[in-house]
Parts: sequence; C-alpha cells; structure tokens
Amino acid sequence: MNDQFPEILPRLESYSTMRTWRERFGRYLLRGSRCADCGSKWFPRRDGLNCPKCAGLKLEDYDCARAGTIDVVQKEDMGYPVMGYGETAPRLVCTIKLDDGVTILSEIVDASPEEAVPGARVKMVFRKHKREETGAWMYGYMFAMERD
Ligand SMILES: [Zn+2]
Repeated sequence: MNDQFPEILPRLESYSTMRTWRERFGRYLLRGSRCADCGSKWFPRRDGLNCPKCAGLKLEDYDCARAGTIDVVQKEDMGYPVMGYGETAPRLVCTIKLDDGVTILSEIVDASPEEAVPGARVKMVFRKHKREETGAWMYGYMFAMERD
C-alpha cells in the first residue's frame, strides 16, 4: 500500500490483462453471442466456437437484456470482507435469469439479504470489480435491486 494505491492489492487471484481487455464488451455491455441460424444465446461470448445446439458457425455479437429475475442466491459470508472484493460482507452472489432467457452469475450490490430473494427483480449496474495486476481498476457489470 502507498498513496497512489491506498487499497490492498490482491494477489490471491490474478486476471490476465490481455484477456480482460478482450472481454471488456462483455463486462461493460453484457455482450454475448447469438446463433444466426437457430437463435440460441450465450453469455459470456463464444469466441471462435460453434453453436452447441445446431453446430452452426454463424455466431454474432448480441447484447443481453439488462434486467432479470434472481434464480438462486448464494450468501458468501466468511465473517470478514474477502480480500480484493471490497469492504462489504456478506457478498450476495446470485444466478440471474435475464429477460431474454440468458442465465448469468453476478454479485448483487446495494441490497440486503432480505431483499435479494429468488424471484426478485434486478437490473444491471456498472461497478468496480477489482484491481488487475498492473494496478488498474477493472470495471464491469453487477446487479442491483429494481426499485420503482
Ligand atoms: Zn445454432
């Protein structure tokens, strides 16, 4: 730690900066893949692969829906914040069924464990994920409760 990087630099798990860069549109825009032949959708992107349903090779970029419903909730509570994942404990990691049918795994932020229950509506928000080994922050999607 120093003045330039006041937060702890996590070393338990590292991200490849090149891979992080290549997958930036997935993290920023929930960009996945769609099969042009049968219409199946995936997240994350199926880069250089074929469609597992129809074996077609015409996969195009597809921006997934940015709202959905919580399917399964996993409360990660070790009694203290997990290094590299911010100051909040417990973390709520959920499987979310997006409105277009794609299932995604994400952390739920700004929500209490009582709010984040299966069936609750959530929407995509943009948050800091964690630091890369270079010290640069990695940003990307997380989900928050849909409050009207
Ligand atoms: Zn297909």
